[in-house]
Amino acid sequence: MTPPYKLPLQKSEPVPYPDEKQFIDVHTHHPWNYPHIFSIRNYVDRIEIETSRQLKTAISVGVHPWKCKPGEEEKFLELVKQASTLPHVLAIGECGIDLKIETPIEFQEKVFLQQALLADEIKKPLIIHCVKAYQQFSQLLQKQKPGVPWIFHGFNNTLQLAEELTGNGAYLSVGFDLLKENSKIRAAFYHLPIDQLFFETDEMQQPVWKLYAEAAKIFRISEKDLKKHVFENFERCFMRAESNIRSKQ
Ligand SMILES: [Zn+2]
Repeated sequence: MTPPYKLPLQKSEPVPYPDEKQFIDVHTHHPWNYPHIFSIRNYVDRIEIETSRQLKTAISVGVHPWKCKPGEEEKFLELVKQASTLPHVLAIGECGIDLKIETPIEFQEKVFLQQALLADEIKKPLIIHCVKAYQQFSQLLQKQKPGVPWIFHGFNNTLQLAEELTGNGAYLSVGFDLLKENSKIRAAFYHLPIDQLFFETDEMQQPVWKLYAEAAKIFRISEKDLKKHVFENFERCFMRAESNIRSKQ
């Protein structure tokens, strides 16, 4: 095993990392630029991933099921693999399984599993896109026993399913469905384990602090306490990568 000190970070490549006072937006497609927000911007286009080397801000890279047809996966996965060890790439994803698209599920699962293995290897969490495939993911979680956290993004489902996933060590990232009066996530939210939660803006143009405000109200805690919980969740999930461990020393 290579000890971490044999791979020193370049001084010009600091790992982007939040502080306790910031709002963490774990999955977004927007270039948010507020000092009190720390966001992980998602890159799933080939061109985007190719040009992502130049960036300094936190991103995640992955092969999204919408973006990859059979026959295209090898090159795409290689691109993700190359980018994955960059210090500002904090997670792999979004990747996953989407049963609403025509791409065969076996193919989607294969491409997902390759990324799950990569994430395990480089010790960075996975950000998961899951549409109508929670049953598959529940089984995969039990079968794969991943060594890094799996973060289900845009989670809007029942408490039972939330408990099944979090019971197997997964994290849930909650988006703007939380603000919808009759959404499943709103009904379940109060009972979710606060130590396995994140918030995200995804495609929404509204900033993530709106979700913190609502969530703090539902949990009946202060926004400051909620920030602390989410920050601790971040530390638990994202500190495993060697580059992050080194940067905090
Ligand atoms: Zn997204």
